[in-house]
Amino acid sequence: MPSPVEAAVRDARDRYAAANPASRARHEEALATLPGGNTRTVLFHQPFPLGIVRGEGCRIWDADGHEYLDLLGEYTAGLFGHSDPVIRAAVVAALDNGVTLSGHPMTEARFAAAIARRFPSLELLRFTNSGTEANLMALALATAVTGRRTVLVFEGAYHGGVLSFPVGNVPATNVPHRFVVAGYNSPDIAAVLEAVGDDLAAVLIEPMLGAGGCVPATPEFLATLRTETGRLGALLIFDEVMTSRLAPGGRQAAVGIRPDLTTLGKYVGGGMSFGAFGGRRELMERFDPRRPDALPHSGTYNNNVLTMAAGLAAMTGPFTPEAVEALNARGDRLRTDLAAVLAGLPVQVTGLGSLLTVHFTARPVRTGADAARADPRLTELFFFDLLERGIQVARRGMVALSLPVGDADCARFVDAVADVVRSRRALLT
Ligand code: PMP
Repeated sequence: MPSPVEAAVRDARDRYAAANPASRARHEEALATLPGGNTRTVLFHQPFPLGIVRGEGCRIWDADGHEYLDLLGEYTAGLFGHSDPVIRAAVVAALDNGVTLSGHPMTEARFAAAIARRFPSLELLRFTNSGTEANLMALALATAVTGRRTVLVFEGAYHGGVLSFPVGNVPATNVPHRFVVAGYNSPDIAAVLEAVGDDLAAVLIEPMLGAGGCVPATPEFLATLRTETGRLGALLIFDEVMTSRLAPGGRQAAVGIRPDLTTLGKYVGGGMSFGAFGGRRELMERFDPRRPDALPHSGTYNNNVLTMAAGLAAMTGPFTPEAVEALNARGDRLRTDLAAVLAGLPVQVTGLGSLLTVHFTARPVRTGADAARADPRLTELFFFDLLERGIQVARRGMVALSLPVGDADCARFVDAVADVVRSRRALLT
């Protein structure tokens, strides 16, 4: 006999499958050439993920004609929504001039300058094709300049497909750095760093765990990392692939801590493939090809015409400091409203600004390990229940607001959550 919550999940999956025959057909076709019908594991869920045919603003439509409010926002990369007119015009203009030019498009240095203006700790920077690559390059630079091997990372962190540190015993495809995994927000962090001592090349940290559950690092924790890495001669690397959107100058500006290196990705490229790493001038200068000891860094599409055009348009267009402030203020209000609806239930809402995660656990969530305690069945049910109400969030319970999301959309989401909670009260308490 399945438990009531297992029966509810089974029922939700069955209803979903019955409602989405065209998505199922697309999935079955994909199974022939993609393992699990998939080339992006995060998007997979049972019984099969939706086939999405179109998006506009903060709305998307699936292959069976259902419309959804998109509160997933491409896991933070879709900050500008699906049809920002400024970015669209820049991409179309770039297409008109040819896309594989074997040279430097005129947008490349201007885009870099726009990023450096916004995030001043990136005195010099370089582009990559993804956040994963940006982190790989930052770690390569850190080990090269320090001559040390150990990289300290945190439980629950995600820095890319080959730099992933989930809680628990999960099969990994990580690159073979000498990693030490510490507890996020751990009060003992200074002692952990001291123990690694003079082999510590870098500390790599998301200032808020993103994939790990929107768990913010405390400013004190980040300040300790700054002080201790400085003392030990190691580099502090902020992975701001997600968190750079949380304030006009990123979370580093919000907490007033200047890392040695920063990695960026996702929305900064205006919705195109994107990554960047940068930081202190004297570190990044190691990539200057005029130097006899220059480190190599190539990549055919690092400066691809479409990303350079879209990113420059985004950073000098819709991504104004005022828009960033307003987006995050809206998210703060949303989190407060959600917390009110969920008060008294064994559910936590974590996050900062425009990013949040709903966790089905009675205990407060302050670390990656806390987040991993959430009930996966209730998380799955929440996802399906919201889809049935026309709202898409991440399968893991994460919400990333995009600029087109308005107050009425947020209110609709809060009402939907209240309705889900009412209908599932027996399973939650
Ligand atoms: N760092 C963080 C914090 C991320 O959230 C992600 C992507 N989810 C990455 C790095 C990797 O970026 P990409 O998917 O572009 O490789």
